[in-house]
Amino acid sequence: MRNRQATQLISELSHSGRRAAEFPQSDVPNRPLDEMIPRSFQGSTLPKLPEMAEPDVVRHFVNLSTLNMSVDTHFYPLGSCTMKYNPKRHERLARLPGIVDVHPHQPAKNLQGLLELLFDMQQMLAEISGLPAVSLQPAAGAHGELTALFVAAAYFRERGETRTKVIFPASAHGTNPASAAMAGFECIELKGTRSVPGEHGGTGGFVDLEELKRHVDNQTAVFMVTNPNTLGLFEKEIAQAAQIVHDAGGLVYIDGANMNAIMGITRPGDFGGDMMHYNVHKTFTGPHGAGGPGSGPICVRDYLGKYLPGPVIQRTTSPAGENRYEFAIPEKTIGRVRSFFGNVGILVRGYCYLRTLGPAGVRAAAEQAILNANYLKELLADVLPSANGKHCLHEFVASAEQLAKSSGITAMDIAKRLLDFGFHPPTVYFPLVVPQAMMFEPTETESKATLDAFSQAIHQIIQEDAELLHQAPHTAPVSRPEEVNATRKPVLTWPKA
Ligand SMILES: *Cc1c(COP(=O)(O)O)cnc(C)c1O
Repeated sequence: MRNRQATQLISELSHSGRRAAEFPQSDVPNRPLDEMIPRSFQGSTLPKLPEMAEPDVVRHFVNLSTLNMSVDTHFYPLGSCTMKYNPKRHERLARLPGIVDVHPHQPAKNLQGLLELLFDMQQMLAEISGLPAVSLQPAAGAHGELTALFVAAAYFRERGETRTKVIFPASAHGTNPASAAMAGFECIELKGTRSVPGEHGGTGGFVDLEELKRHVDNQTAVFMVTNPNTLGLFEKEIAQAAQIVHDAGGLVYIDGANMNAIMGITRPGDFGGDMMHYNVHKTFTGPHGAGGPGSGPICVRDYLGKYLPGPVIQRTTSPAGENRYEFAIPEKTIGRVRSFFGNVGILVRGYCYLRTLGPAGVRAAAEQAILNANYLKELLADVLPSANGKHCLHEFVASAEQLAKSSGITAMDIAKRLLDFGFHPPTVYFPLVVPQAMMFEPTETESKATLDAFSQAIHQIIQEDAELLHQAPHTAPVSRPEEVNATRKPVLTWPKA
């Protein structure tokens, strides 16, 4: 049943004469409007405000606030997005007066507490990535990618090189080619995937080193790769891939959106990455969705640190052992990419997360995320098989292709019908390399009971009448937009490799 009251506009709920408050009689003379506000400032008509009683106003907005799904209201296995639970304790800590009441123009000497926190955050991010130089400025993962590509461009410029190409696998997140194009590079997509024998069952889905070799040359600026990749598989030959790029003088960028699978277990800096971004709002529990706010710090090798956007936070220790924190501008900085020093509110939440878990807890969270994903993968294997091997890391990509062929039920149908069952759908039709892709990422914060209930819902859905599913969702306030054509081919193109 559609929620009628919540979908009515507030103007439709207005009743002439209704008020949420009653004011005392005015004890000053009533003056004509023109005497108080010059005609030219009044506009052509006065705004027509809705007239409502307080309970109606409250109900209207509270109802609106419940129309969308969130991690706080529903299971949200949106692959690649790491929609893990956001601990409420972090909200309280991020609202401490020493954090919310500071002004970004205050001098560093009056911000020592906050700067110590941000400095420690830089250190922890450097430790987890294995890359020592950190900028907290970028406001999201995609912004981190763009920033790092500017850093790479500055590095090559100083070496007198004009490298023009950025290479990435076909499974790359759309932001990778978008960032490369925005930074002025030519985008080269690796189409082939490779089978790697071993625990993944010898199926495809990995970067093909031979194909990489064919494309890498002295024009290669950066190889951008997500590891674990967007199929939820660890690129086992990442070190060899990095070697190929390094031998040609290029840099390796690790898209860190999937750090939830490897944090505390292995480090991009140890397997060949020269630069990476974090998505603090994904991996370290910043509440996200609905467009932000995000935080996408980047970590780079020591020799790239001098190009980072400034200011970065620096610590000096006096002979007496006293620490002082200051803003520092890296020597050859690419300049600012954001006002002040980053999305501090999200960085503080990430800091609280890392401090709460500690090194052992961070690793345990990754391991639990992997366990949960493999458990769900197994539960769904009979109806939504995944082509890429027996085990996954923190997420997996299943395919509804068989189902679509046998009964006409598409990934989009299942996704939309899940809304009626009170579950947020998984990511669908990404990555593009899997037909009828459904990408599930349960995260470590879900219980076995939730995963069981979710699997049961999917098993129930695929038994339903296909026509009913094509029209789903049936209970959501807004129905399926007509332009969504579940079988459309990707329309993206970029210059041929
Ligand atoms: C989310 C994501 C990004 C982009 O990060 P934003 O913080 O949304 O800008 C990049 N790559 C991958 C693999 C992602 O999942």
